[in-house]
Amino acid sequence: MSDVAVDCSGVWKFYGDFPALRDISLEVPPGRCLALIGRNGAGKTTLLRILAGFSKATRGRVSIFGNQPRETDARRRIGFLGHGISIYDELSALENLILFARMYGLAEPKKAALEWLELTGLTRVRDGLVREFSRGMRQRLAVARAFLHNPSVLLLDEPFTALDDRAIGVLQALLQAALREGRTIVMSTHQLREALELATDVALVERGGVAYQGPRTPEMLADPGWLYARYGES
Ligand code: ATP
Repeated sequence: MSDVAVDCSGVWKFYGDFPALRDISLEVPPGRCLALIGRNGAGKTTLLRILAGFSKATRGRVSIFGNQPRETDARRRIGFLGHGISIYDELSALENLILFARMYGLAEPKKAALEWLELTGLTRVRDGLVREFSRGMRQRLAVARAFLHNPSVLLLDEPFTALDDRAIGVLQALLQAALREGRTIVMSTHQLREALELATDVALVERGGVAYQGPRTPEMLADPGWLYARYGES
């Protein structure tokens, strides 16, 4: 087993002849939180989907603790939040989580489902059909689904989207706890302030390439726009 949690080396992704990712290399050690920052269309979602094994790199190599993302070992370790992850509209929140807990082979699916409904503030609506949920409720369910099987690597595409201030606070606390437990997080975000508070490292993605990567510094925290001003394209 590799001691790098998320390893991505020389990754390119072409859609037709458009290069959505150009030669991306990133290494995230266990227990770190990498924030992927970048404008719309920069390539953050494409990169996260490749890291999670939902999409294949055209060139380059990706591994999660030394395994390719689609291998069983890596799949068990990954918790993903973003488009393309299934949540069933015609099932209740509880039924959805029990289904996924079974899929991951958890010993006590209902117990895990109830625990995560509680942690994400969905206990009251646990029997409601997801079809009737607001965007914020769906997002909270997506958070529960990402954490449910105790993954050691959390890959989160815009995790704060559609959440109100209270739910943002809850998610930040869950992510902080995950880091204290030694889990690894890679997240893309437009909510710079929330993400930078958590991040240990930052990568600025621009037009499919990495314009800056390194530790999150006090300047970034003091002024979330600093990174764009210093390293971004005008
Ligand atoms: P956003 O914050 O808007 O989601 P992003 O940084 O996540 O932006 P991506 O969604 O990864 O960016 O998109 C990167 C580029 O690749 C964009 O120019 C987008 O139009 C293009 N792209 C993404 N998916 C596809 C696809 N399936 N087919 C063709 N082009 C695509």
